[in-house]
Amino acid sequence: MRPEILNPIFAEVSTLEGVGPKLAKPLDRLGLAKVKDVAYHLPERFVERRAVADLDEASEGEQIVIALTPTEHRASRNGRGPYRVLAQDAKGNICALTYFGRASYTAKKLLPVGEQRWIAGRLDRYGDMLQIVHPDHVAEKADALSGKQVEPVYRLAEGLTQPRVASLVEQSLALVPELPEWIEPGKADGEGWPAWRDALHLAHRGPHEKARDRLAYDELLANALALMLVRADNRKRKGAPLKGDGSLRDKLQLPFPLTGAQTRSIAEIEGDLQQESPMLRLLQGDVGSGKTVVALEAMLVAVEAGAQAALLAPTEILARQHFETLRDMARPTGVEIALLTGRDKGKARESILMGLLDGSIDIVVGTHAIFQDSVLYKNLAFVVIDEQHRFGVGQRLMLARKGKRTPHTLAMTATPIPRTLTLAQYGEMDVSRLDELPPGRQAIDTRVISAERLSEVADGVARHIASGRQAYWVCPMVRESETEDIAAAEQRYASLKARFDDDIVLVHGQLRPEEKDAAMERFASGEAKVLVATTVIEVGVDVPNATLMVIEQAERFGLAQLHQLRGRVGRGSEKSVCLLLRGEALSETGRERLALMRETQDGFRLAEEDLRLRGGGELLGTRQSGEEAFRIADLEQITRLLPAAHDDARLLMERDGGLTGKRGEAARILLYLFERDWGVQLLRGG
Ligand code: ADP
Ligand code: MG
Repeated sequence: MRPEILNPIFAEVSTLEGVGPKLAKPLDRLGLAKVKDVAYHLPERFVERRAVADLDEASEGEQIVIALTPTEHRASRNGRGPYRVLAQDAKGNICALTYFGRASYTAKKLLPVGEQRWIAGRLDRYGDMLQIVHPDHVAEKADALSGKQVEPVYRLAEGLTQPRVASLVEQSLALVPELPEWIEPGKADGEGWPAWRDALHLAHRGPHEKARDRLAYDELLANALALMLVRADNRKRKGAPLKGDGSLRDKLQLPFPLTGAQTRSIAEIEGDLQQESPMLRLLQGDVGSGKTVVALEAMLVAVEAGAQAALLAPTEILARQHFETLRDMARPTGVEIALLTGRDKGKARESILMGLLDGSIDIVVGTHAIFQDSVLYKNLAFVVIDEQHRFGVGQRLMLARKGKRTPHTLAMTATPIPRTLTLAQYGEMDVSRLDELPPGRQAIDTRVISAERLSEVADGVARHIASGRQAYWVCPMVRESETEDIAAAEQRYASLKARFDDDIVLVHGQLRPEEKDAAMERFASGEAKVLVATTVIEVGVDVPNATLMVIEQAERFGLAQLHQLRGRVGRGSEKSVCLLLRGEALSETGRERLALMRETQDGFRLAEEDLRLRGGGELLGTRQSGEEAFRIADLEQITRLLPAAHDDARLLMERDGGLTGKRGEAARILLYLFERDWGVQLLRGG
């Protein structure tokens, strides 16, 4: 049971003042379910604004406070584009205040024509017009904005504003209790870290590095500890030893010989499966390294041994793709493979459930639906988990531990993290590495192009699809607000749509799942030729005919992320091209980073270099990529702090593996706080 002291901050966000049904969706999108999530919604950065008398005094890109008088409201013609309010300063200079989506209703109310307002926001340019997109504040009187000169900037979702989030944060912080210290006292003192509660407060007030570090360390410690608990528990458990006779694997007719790395990994897995203690192994391999075949061979071992196997995918689309690939590859073996997702209903679902129960289905592929309580297996003995997401591998591991016997587990990841981090992050698991790509893979022709040549790039895309192939177009996460990122993607989509018409689809995080799937499927089926996307979406689809990847503002991405994106092309036998569009003002590091992308396709090398080049917080996509096991710690903090957190956890486990002492009790609270309490539950032998 959760320690009582945590109850106030485990209350639903809806208990906070001002949170009605309307905010449910945006809060959910940001992952803010509980009060503690809001308290942990740390500022992306802090803005410092300058008050200016008129627009001439301000420069583009600057955060300003200015008095403007609206002169005209312009709705977009088709209702889908932005809503603009033209406003003038004291000298008569014009600036547009631009709103997307539902925010336009606010604009109508807040900005009556002819009445002066004080506006705070970032001055930008759109074509030849100055604009402020979604002003941070609109006030009738200047003094309403005093005290807002240094302000935290929070990540938003459509329907939320900065002041609203700030108010929720204030309310949440007021509920945060003091908690006992779980960090080794010597460590906390040595680093000069504030106590947990103080650290949370400080992190919202200004750029307090020590506070942020402490909070990140907490998360890393929680994760390390939880994985150790899983490992310790695993040692006590029994699985079914699975020894295959090769009869099914012999029937496979693979069109290629396995690589050395694949053969080695399969042998390692086979060895584990024969043991009575359940396997806990990570298969780490770059995009395209051939993890699927390894998974299939391993699942066939289980089936040969008379058991069932399951493959868990993070999304429905990926589940379907895996299902189709595996079904085709396994056809000569006669093995029965089924697909089960949350969308299957009625008769179809019933018949799959029957098959799993009576054992006529050997292998099931699906989303977490395959581990619902209503899904019963005759003899599930092996689980493959593909691409674990935010909660990290631990929680996924837990999904499968329900039966009397614990299934063997293989987790697969394409995130090439540096060796030092592998050890610290997955130290509790055995690791197989696919460090060799299948032969004959063509290098992806990678070019860096100035964004000024955008129209030539669009010409290139047109020629590309005229030759029957498809293309991805990735828009970056530019700003702290998802709304604005999506606005940017929508703008790009609109301008490309004028040219590509029905051939183009748009996918971003705010579409309803059905809309998203429909767009994805149009692209996957080849009906649509160009897929415009923000990076928040899962671009994990495999479309071999898509051989061109355009990435806008490439300098803003981390190398690892660029590499992941680039890996979406180059999947077929045809030559693939990746165009990295860069802005004009490129830093030295930015230049170096893009040059590396041209130079190498080795994900592990890029991961190492990424780490070396990272710094200054200029990179995006560390936390937003949806692939991170950590919500608070960023990559730099992970690198710097994880080894110590790992040692700290180890020491605690050695001294007090049952977490019953004073620090042990505190550590239990920590595990609940980071929702890694599955670790605690294991202590009860549950
Ligand atoms: P991953 O999941 O690791 O990104 P996949 O399993 O999807 O990679 O494999 C990528 C592509 O490489 C697939 O088309 C697959 O059939 C092919 N492939 C896998 N192993 C080999 C191999 N040993 N030789 C040639 N092609 C291979
Ligand atoms: Mg894969």
